[in-house]
Amino acid sequence: MKENELKTMRSSFKIMEERRIDLIHDPRIIKLQERVKNIRKKSVKKIPAMVETARKSFKINGMEFLYAEDSHQALDLIYNLIKNEKMVAKSKSNTLNELGLSDYLNEKNIQLVETDLGDRIIQLKPDDNKPSHPIGPALHLKVDKIAEIISESLDVKVKADPRVIMELVKGNVLEELKSCKIGITGANSVAAEDGSLIMVHNEGNISLLSLMDTHIVVVGVDKLVDTIEDAISVVKLETAYATGTALSSYINVISGPSKTADIEKKLLEGMYGARKVVVILLDNGRQEALEECLWCIGCGSCIVSCPVYNVVGNEFGYRGYLGGRGVAMSRFLQDEKTSFNSGLYMCTLCGLCTLECPVGTPTSEIMEKIRKESKNTGFSPKEHYKIHKSIERKGSPF
Ligand code: SF4
Repeated sequence: MKENELKTMRSSFKIMEERRIDLIHDPRIIKLQERVKNIRKKSVKKIPAMVETARKSFKINGMEFLYAEDSHQALDLIYNLIKNEKMVAKSKSNTLNELGLSDYLNEKNIQLVETDLGDRIIQLKPDDNKPSHPIGPALHLKVDKIAEIISESLDVKVKADPRVIMELVKGNVLEELKSCKIGITGANSVAAEDGSLIMVHNEGNISLLSLMDTHIVVVGVDKLVDTIEDAISVVKLETAYATGTALSSYINVISGPSKTADIEKKLLEGMYGARKVVVILLDNGRQEALEECLWCIGCGSCIVSCPVYNVVGNEFGYRGYLGGRGVAMSRFLQDEKTSFNSGLYMCTLCGLCTLECPVGTPTSEIMEKIRKESKNTGFSPKEHYKIHKSIERKGSPF
């Protein structure tokens, strides 16, 4: 990230911190926080059982259920569903970023329309189109820079005014959506027993995608909880910490395709919403990960407080998983080399991210465990080897 982008990101982070300070100290949110901690800790211990429960529940609810062991399988499954399309639409999703869906579809000559405003801006940006925050992907860009990006990419002259930009991008996306029959989204939480997908958004774009002929939902097994009540608790806490508001404008609960039985009780699918809902549950190393890595609810609080992220930005992290927790996850989603290259040794182990995390993810402890292992696999800094050798030979690091 460039210095001016880092500066804008830091000032956006400051606004976010100020906006949420009262809310996260509200006794109701503190009570919710305790409830969600228990839900997350309990859920990650029984992922295999919950996968089987979800498989049955989704089937009962009339949804197609697919399981992907890794990212290649997930991309193959998605491709199979969309191979006859020229264009598909997508919402903001770390899981889809993890798969590298955008590059993959590019290779396959299928156009992808990002529907989230921040994601669309990043998609149209010609260089470095990595997000800077999981909820606000473009918050490192100033309004005049965004106006420049939009003007160049859409070949219009747009004023550096947030509302003007919003209206223009909205018009452009809505026009593109006319050519799309398939919407692809993630989900913020999944209720295994009820067979329901819970999605949180403010823009209304996920509602639009869920109204397309086919709605594909790709979600990690770490998002599984038992019930809708648990899932709603998780997304309420995520919203409070991510945006500083008690609730987002929309919480979509999807428990099946659109249907009607209004004529002679004959069941017909595809009334106004999706005729077909396909859930792809993704493992991709999650069940091998340290349990505490999976407590995360995706609010992004950790990066706002992280001293390293505030200095280097999105170089510290892996794809959409930013900051220390992203580095830690990359060890399991990819390998030791990826976590080393994502900033394993950039972390100061200060523990600020844990203090700010609503579920207390112990990122610095996870980092220490991965570093210890990395010493044996050859992925630690050369200087460490020199010091290690020196201690072995001379009993001193010098
Ligand atoms: S422990 Fe590491 S990842 Fe967490 S806030 Fe400190 S520097 Fe950032």
